[in-house]
Amino acid sequence: MALLEVKDLRTSFKTEDGIVKAVDGVSFTVEKGQTLGIVGESGSGKSVTCLTIMGLNAKRTTMSSGEALWKGKDLLRAKSSELRKIRGDEMSMIFQDPMTSLNPVHTIGKQLVEAVQLHRDVTVRVAKARALELLKAVGIPKAEGRIDDYPHQFSGGMRQRVMIAMALINDPDLLIADEPTTALDVTTQAQILNLMKRLQEDFGSAIIMITHDLGVVAETADDVVVMYAAKVVEHAKVHDLFNRPQHPYTWGLMGSLPRLETDTERLVQIPGQPPSLLRPPSGCRFHPRCPYVMGVCRTTEPKLLATERDPSHLQACHLDQETKDREANKLIESTMAEVG
Ligand code: SF4
Repeated sequence: MALLEVKDLRTSFKTEDGIVKAVDGVSFTVEKGQTLGIVGESGSGKSVTCLTIMGLNAKRTTMSSGEALWKGKDLLRAKSSELRKIRGDEMSMIFQDPMTSLNPVHTIGKQLVEAVQLHRDVTVRVAKARALELLKAVGIPKAEGRIDDYPHQFSGGMRQRVMIAMALINDPDLLIADEPTTALDVTTQAQILNLMKRLQEDFGSAIIMITHDLGVVAETADDVVVMYAAKVVEHAKVHDLFNRPQHPYTWGLMGSLPRLETDTERLVQIPGQPPSLLRPPSGCRFHPRCPYVMGVCRTTEPKLLATERDPSHLQACHLDQETKDREANKLIESTMAEVG
C-alpha cells in the first residue's frame, strides 16, 4: 500500500468574486521513503493541494472532494481530532519562512519540547534530550548552548534548520516541505537541501517537496508532478522528466532554470502570467501563453494520458509525439550546450 494516495483531489474557495477552483482533479501517490516534487509557478495549486491533505484550509470557505488516503485512511473524511493526531506526528510540514511557524516569544528549546510532548507521553527531561539530539542532527553548532535562545537570535539558514528539527522530532513518515529554501541565499539553499537528503536517509521519511524551482526538484525528487492553473500537466520519474519532458509548460520551466555559474536567468522565459482561477481559459489552460498553440487547444481540454513509450510518464497536451520529441531534444541539446 502507498503511504499516501491522492485521487482526483479538488479544492474550491468561496470568495466575494465567486468560486476559485484552486485544485482541480489532482492525483498522485507517495511511497515510503521517496520524494515527490510538486513544481509550478505561484498560484498553480501546489501548496493548496498539500494544505488540503493536511486539513489546514479554512473550513468555512473551502470545499474539497476526492480522496487523500493516508495508509489507506481517507484524510478528507477524518475527524479534526484524528487529523490533529496525525499532524506533527506521522506527517509534518515545513514552510518557506520559519518565523511564521516559530513562536518569537518562546525559546526554541521550549518549542521543541512542546512538539514532543504534544504527541508523546514523556518527561521534560526526555523531550529536551530529544530536542538536543535533533538540533545536533540538523547541524546547529554548539547546540547545548543554543537550545535556550529565541528564534530571532538565529540566522535565516539556522532558523530553517530549527524548523527541520521541529518537523522531524517525532520521526514522521512524511515531511511536506513548502518552498523550504526559497528565502535563503544560494549557498545556504544547497546546504539545507543536502541536509534534508541526508536526514531522509537517516530517518527514512518520505518527502513532498513543493517548489517553483526545477533545480530543487532535480536535486531532491524521485517523481515529479508539474502543476499549472490547478491541474497536473505532466507527471513522471525525475530522470524521464529531465530527459524527455513532454509538455510545453515544462519546457518553459526548464528554459527559465537559473544557470548555476551565474545565478542569472536564461533568456528563454514563459511569456505572460498564470491565469485567474475564477475564470480559467477554455480548452488547455496554458493556451494563452503557449508558443505551440493550435485551434483545438482553445476549445478542447487535453486529458492527462500516458506517453506512447512509457505508461508511468503522464502528460496533458494535444501536440503529436513527433513534435514533442523534437522540441524536447532541442531544449536538452541547448541546455547541454550552455552548461558544456
Ligand atoms: Fe500548448 Fe496546445 Fe499543448 Fe496546451 S495543448 S500545451 S496550448 S500545444
